[in-house]
Amino acid sequence: MKLFTLHTGVSIAFWVHVGLASSIDSSALCPSTSFQIQYCGRTLEHGEAAFLDGVGNELGPALKANNTARGVSSIWEVRESPGKGLGVFATTLITAGSRVMVEPPLFAIKPPEFIPGKGYEIEAMIADVDKAVAALSSEEQDEFRSCHEHRLPNEAASEHRRNMFIFRSNAYTLTDGKIAMFPKIAKINHSCRPNAANVWSSVSRLRIIWAARDILPGEEVSVTYAPLLQTREDRQKRLAQYGFRCSCEACHDHAHTDPRRKQMARLLSELEDRLARKTSAFANKKLLLKATALVEMLEEEHMMDYLPNAYRMAAELSFRLDNITAAEDWARQELRLHENADELSSASQDAVAFLLKTTSAR
Ligand SMILES: [Zn+2]
Repeated sequence: MKLFTLHTGVSIAFWVHVGLASSIDSSALCPSTSFQIQYCGRTLEHGEAAFLDGVGNELGPALKANNTARGVSSIWEVRESPGKGLGVFATTLITAGSRVMVEPPLFAIKPPEFIPGKGYEIEAMIADVDKAVAALSSEEQDEFRSCHEHRLPNEAASEHRRNMFIFRSNAYTLTDGKIAMFPKIAKINHSCRPNAANVWSSVSRLRIIWAARDILPGEEVSVTYAPLLQTREDRQKRLAQYGFRCSCEACHDHAHTDPRRKQMARLLSELEDRLARKTSAFANKKLLLKATALVEMLEEEHMMDYLPNAYRMAAELSFRLDNITAAEDWARQELRLHENADELSSASQDAVAFLLKTTSAR
């Protein structure tokens, strides 16, 4: 059985509509702290262009060089993953920080109105999805149909909706609200301790997978489909909506990982809350210790969805304490992670602006 290659955001909304989920969460790219929401908000400003034209000419040289997703990759292959159907595997050492896969949308569609508490009206999207698939080349159609298709028990005979089933099982929401298909990235399976980060760059119009740690030859590449700072029970509830139960090492080791993840979530929330207000020097010192502890825990688990935010908070606190050297160091670490994904992204640009502000305070 192929695991759902269902990702944060849109597909959850689909399942909300069919009654399997309780909330929407675009957590992978927009975790729940206001700092990251700010990033996402800025990203939104750049997300209004059409997505159907694939790779444009505006790509930076690094992205062009790594854009293997349309062709044959020399660093990964798709093959059977035991118990999971297809998966993506490294064929060589992929070093931490390097890009694994860069893929433009195969196609994107504008969804009907989102109904809070329910989701999208799937029936209203079937014609649009069929039309978009029909416009693809036969090779692209084959690629689309090679992706996993999940049906509910009562949908077994609904062959005419097959394109929609594939689409809802694999698509991502983009920052402009469109829903897009990335058939190569869709084959990357889930882990609650993923070895790769998954980022949408609205500036470059590419979804980018980069190595959160070294990925060894033969090792399966993984990303997360669920918010990682939840407990195992909560993650499993989320993943159950996609038709599978995760058995990764973080889930096996939940007696150890659950308290840590709760602690990280608590620290993130507290730091976010305190940094939204003016703070005294005394408070800043205490908060910086907490931010540093948070960074260490996130680094240990290679949690790239949350680390840039933690670096930024440590930088901001150092800045408030007039320790400009430390602030610059933290800010550079944040920038490095954003640049691993895309040096042109709005998140990278935002990090550069913060670094410049810090430097100019000297
Ligand atoms: Zn797991």
